[in-house]
Amino acid sequence: MAMIIDGKQLAADTRVQIAEQVRALKSRGIVPGLAVILVGDDPASHSYVRMKEQDCEEVGIASFDHRRSAGITQDELNALIDSCNEDHAVHGILVQLPLPSHLDEEAALARISAEKDVDGLHPMNLGSLVRGIEAPRACTPWGVMKMLERYSVELEGKRAVVIGRSSIVGKPQALMLLESNATVTVCHSRTVDLPGICREADILIAAVGRPKMIDADYVKPGAVVIDVGINRTAEGMVGDVDFAAVEPLASAITPVPGGVGPMTRAMLLANTVAAASRST
Ligand code: NAD
Repeated sequence: MAMIIDGKQLAADTRVQIAEQVRALKSRGIVPGLAVILVGDDPASHSYVRMKEQDCEEVGIASFDHRRSAGITQDELNALIDSCNEDHAVHGILVQLPLPSHLDEEAALARISAEKDVDGLHPMNLGSLVRGIEAPRACTPWGVMKMLERYSVELEGKRAVVIGRSSIVGKPQALMLLESNATVTVCHSRTVDLPGICREADILIAAVGRPKMIDADYVKPGAVVIDVGINRTAEGMVGDVDFAAVEPLASAITPVPGGVGPMTRAMLLANTVAAASRST
């Protein structure tokens, strides 16, 4: 029986700490502010943004809601980002991804001032991660690191395998694990013998986007398994890991929902408060 890594509870605890930091900032006259830019009518994006704005309200961060129709041009989006960059009440800017396909996501992320990049996806902040320089960290992998830390998962000298090489999860995750002295392998869609490589992992992190792909064949007995995947299926939201098959083998595992997702949102709040603190 694996220990269940309770991301929901850990995120709630983190929000309590963040609310305390917000109170301290407010006592010095600083109200942390997050601008949320949401383009189009993707239902999942709307639901994420709603939850993020609720989180802000809970901890006392002011959120500024900027919803735009899917027909917005790149120039209009750029102008909106520029106005948020210049707004002193805004310490963090979130552009909810994915953007409609006619818009250039990379250009939008790079347009956000690096200091206000609370998603940690600006090229400069990802570069800082490579260089080991303190900077806003990408929320999802940073949330995973906080979970591993909270549950005292030793990383130094351990074999970590990350499945997925996106700039949002897989690559920054690998760099963060490396920073913690794990020996890291990154797997992807062209990896040969994926199950064999995964079975070498002491810590296995799945960030693929394929429902229940990781079954018992991929897991070494005693491994710590972190499921980043969010897949909406007929049976509801499921992860990349077949929880029922893997849980009896693993020493610790995150559930979906209630695992990495809530921690991702908590890290957005943490990055916003850190940005507000730096602005003083
Ligand atoms: P992505 O599509 O950008 O990347 C997926 C990666 O998986 C790619 O690098 C690809 O090479 C790899 N891959 C695809 N098929 C594979 C296969 N058969 N074998 C091995 N590797 C394969 O996705 P992403 O943005 O990195 O997100 C991954 C998953 O994590 C999605 O389910 C997404 O919804 C979820 N996600 C969750 C959170 C959260 O807060 N929990 C945050 C971001 C993303």
